[in-house]
Amino acid sequence: MATFDEGISETLSLLRRKGGMTRAEIVAETGLSRSAVNLRIDALLQARLVSGSARETVMKGRPAEVFSFNSERGKLLAADVGATKFRAGLCNLGGDVESEIELPSDVTAGPEVLLTSILKCFETFLADTGTSADEILGIGLSLPAPVKRGSGMSVNPPIMPLWNRFDVPAWFGERFASPVFLEKDANAMAYGEARFSHPEADDLLLVKIGTGIGSGVIREGRLYRGADGAAGDLGHIPMSLPGDDEGPLCKCGNHGCLEARAGGWAILRDLRESGADVSSQDDLIAALAAGDPAAVQLARRAGQAIGTAVATAVNLLNPRVVVLAGHLVAAGGDHLLPAIRERVYSRSLPLATADLTIVASSLHPREGLVGLAHLVSDGILEPAQIGRLVEREPTD
Ligand SMILES: [Zn+2]
Repeated sequence: MATFDEGISETLSLLRRKGGMTRAEIVAETGLSRSAVNLRIDALLQARLVSGSARETVMKGRPAEVFSFNSERGKLLAADVGATKFRAGLCNLGGDVESEIELPSDVTAGPEVLLTSILKCFETFLADTGTSADEILGIGLSLPAPVKRGSGMSVNPPIMPLWNRFDVPAWFGERFASPVFLEKDANAMAYGEARFSHPEADDLLLVKIGTGIGSGVIREGRLYRGADGAAGDLGHIPMSLPGDDEGPLCKCGNHGCLEARAGGWAILRDLRESGADVSSQDDLIAALAAGDPAAVQLARRAGQAIGTAVATAVNLLNPRVVVLAGHLVAAGGDHLLPAIRERVYSRSLPLATADLTIVASSLHPREGLVGLAHLVSDGILEPAQIGRLVEREPTD
């Protein structure tokens, strides 16, 4: 038997999925009793999470009342943090981004500096839109770092050691009363692509190919984080290619990780070693855009390494869609994608590839922000959180 909060969360989820429904339609769809549906709708109306409107009917009698999710019940704040910039947004309760901005940032400077810049953006959104802090129902933040599941903390982040075990929800908690969700960047991106671009695919793998390499897994419609939150760390799986011994040193301290062979920083390292005058990811992007033969060849080789890893992931997870994202896909997709596709289709099981689609991200560079907005929206409307938004008669 579902608890009351499970019940209203479930009914709200149905209304969000289907659009407006009458009481009779909810009864028919769910098999619940009329009185159970009435209780749920009354609670949702009182919480202003749904609104009712009359539907015109061709039959005689009272027009039936249609109940719809009220995405204007409150606002959400989100910030997708990358190594060199962040993108912040103000969203409605349905996860639609209404205002957004991208600014340079430096995650290596530590959490206080960056979170203060993000807070300034949030305060500007509130001032510009006349929104009060009380109307903020949830906050989301994603980091290019491993996040311990359910903790709101990153643990041993290789590129941003000052963030190790920093309590992000507690920091925002001094300023906002709403729950704070912290997520690994590739997880947020996977959620964004799954909810926005591929809503029909319940099983999706997003591979982020930027300065580093990471992935996010959507399994049966939900984000799959693994036991501790470390699932999907494709960049640090060990990879050996013919002719290599231990493999190049990775930023994580190991040798021969996928990222140390095929991540943006590894391609840049190899391009520089070949004699090219390049020093940043922007230089690498420019070299790929100009069709520089050495850069193109390195990108193709990176595609083969990444494709080998993705083929393994496809055998393990059997996704319906693989989405390739990140600045190297945006800049060098013509060289990376064919190599990745060739590798996956020749190395994965025929059953897993027969209906598999491998595509470039369609949201670039907004996947993370869009995903966070939906993660926060879905998170605060889940049974464990929805009670915060529903007033109850005092019991006792
Ligand atoms: Zn590594």
